[in-house]
Amino acid sequence: MSMQTTETRAANEPVLQVENLQTAFFTDKEVIRAVDGISFDIDEGETVGIVGESGSGKSVTARSIMGLVDSPGRILDGSSIKFNGEELVGKSERDYRKLRGSGIAMIFQDPLTSLNPVYTVGNQIKEALRLHQGLTGQAATQKAIELLEDVSIPDARRRVSEYPHQFSGGMRQRAVIAMALACDPELLICDEPTTALDVTIQAQILELLQDIQDERGLSIMFITHDMGVIAEIADRVNVMYAGEMIEKAPVRELFDNPKHPYTEGLLQSIPGMHPGEERLRTIEGDVPTPNEPAEYCRFAPRCPKAFDACDAVHPVNVNVGRESTEHTAACLLYPEDMSREDAVETHRARDATAELTDPTEGDE
Ligand code: SF4
Repeated sequence: MSMQTTETRAANEPVLQVENLQTAFFTDKEVIRAVDGISFDIDEGETVGIVGESGSGKSVTARSIMGLVDSPGRILDGSSIKFNGEELVGKSERDYRKLRGSGIAMIFQDPLTSLNPVYTVGNQIKEALRLHQGLTGQAATQKAIELLEDVSIPDARRRVSEYPHQFSGGMRQRAVIAMALACDPELLICDEPTTALDVTIQAQILELLQDIQDERGLSIMFITHDMGVIAEIADRVNVMYAGEMIEKAPVRELFDNPKHPYTEGLLQSIPGMHPGEERLRTIEGDVPTPNEPAEYCRFAPRCPKAFDACDAVHPVNVNVGRESTEHTAACLLYPEDMSREDAVETHRARDATAELTDPTEGDE
């Protein structure tokens, strides 16, 4: 699945720029703010991780970028998603469909989401090549074999004629990556692509993605709940919680110097972080459904460091980096060099200017 857009990006501009993205689902009973005002970007050739537990809004973010938000969901006014400098929000479904072709491709956790069981793997790659590169016949077959070889499928000349059920789980995910590459994308969105695989195969797929990235200068947006995977693959990391982006940092900085209590909890729950402990540490409780405007810290009910103001003031992202200005966290404990009262006031004042209108008003 992929998307094409005109090359309008200026030199050094990010490939993808997401600004104040808000995607909400309008049901009879409530408005679920699945993605609630997030901003991030992805540069050419880099891997940006989006990490968080199930229900944090990661997949809705990906679907919003791909124009795949189904009713009763929609992207709200004031949101911006620019790919190569071109605004995607507001395009009609027809335009979006026309745009799908090259530029952005997406792979999912379950490769069978993308593979049709009744066609051979080769025919499905060839169909992508026909649609996106105009290749047919022997040229398409040859290219399909090359793509399967590019993703390290052994004996590609024979396997190109096999059906998805004849492939193992890891091989299917490789085939899906080959299909994505048939669109010659600039940005690859990977939504938990290794979660269903065992650890050895997972490591192989991560290595494959990195090799492909090096060869093609691909930008990758990598969605996962697994901090261990993030450590392997990401250059920069965005941590999501209940629809919001609550910490952002270059990957080393995030692991060496986590600031948000939620990020600290995620890092504590990586297997092997505490040798000698038999049980894995986890964050107690679940991610809440974001069905109210963010007027407080949504992590407060689970936060070991919560204090009174956390239930009354919405934290905004503030700079927390030691050296890098790219490290921000949305927590009332920061900036660290302010008194607690002054820090809370800073968040209150900045949130008041950011929240001029509620974009869900009039829709309920
Ligand atoms: S704002 Fe308060 S509840 Fe939220 S993460 Fe920070 S300390 Fe915890």
